[in-house]
Amino acid sequence: MSFKIITIDGPTGVGKSTIARQLATKLDCLYVDTGAMFRCLAWSWTTQGCPESDESLEKLGDQTRIVFENEKVICDYTDVTQEIRTERISAKASKISGFPLIREVMKKQQRALVEEVRRSESYRGAVLEGRDIGTVVFPAAEFKFYVDASPEIRAKRRLLQLQKSGEDVDYEEVLSALRKRDFQDQNRKVAPLKPANDAIIVDTGRLTADGVLENLLNYVLKKESTSLELN
Ligand code: C5P
Repeated sequence: MSFKIITIDGPTGVGKSTIARQLATKLDCLYVDTGAMFRCLAWSWTTQGCPESDESLEKLGDQTRIVFENEKVICDYTDVTQEIRTERISAKASKISGFPLIREVMKKQQRALVEEVRRSESYRGAVLEGRDIGTVVFPAAEFKFYVDASPEIRAKRRLLQLQKSGEDVDYEEVLSALRKRDFQDQNRKVAPLKPANDAIIVDTGRLTADGVLENLLNYVLKKESTSLELN
């Protein structure tokens, strides 16, 4: 069985993480949350307060140590799992992601992570979620999905998540921050958010999380046309 790469791109708050994580488990693949990697850099940037230039951010990217440990995200030996999900870090991550050299560092690290797993044969493949995975990081991936939903639906979901984690925010505030991040993600010069030409587009606004997972899973299994043993 060949090592497969599955990319899931889409805007903020669309439910990519849940879908990607579950799909990875079902298919015995490594799950890579590339947004968390940008969030870690934003966290390091905030903590270390380095200057806002492409070169100094590139250095920061090279020096920052990001480790995924089960469901935890460890950045420079600190558990940042919760902290990187705040609105403050979301805004910084979106900003930092527009710097071309930072994107190069991330692309290299994401490819290296997958290569390491491919070599070690510890998984049957990798599921990566982000903004530019199918277009830039792995343009030759066998399976590419682009998940989408209206800003209003995504803002409602995001509001629930933030309220659960104790942030004091309201719907209008969340919707406006989300539109701003969409704009930044879709209009940056390097690797803007857009579906790959050969991506399958999935509207998560009209399906339950289980329904989305089922669609993606069926697509992968059908295309492979083989009876994989599911976990
Ligand atoms: O997916 P998530 O919302 O956690 O990503 C945080 C930020 O990182 C996004 O707003 C986006 O600007 C950036 N990002 C990116 N490319 C990726 C993943 C995330 O630019 N592949």
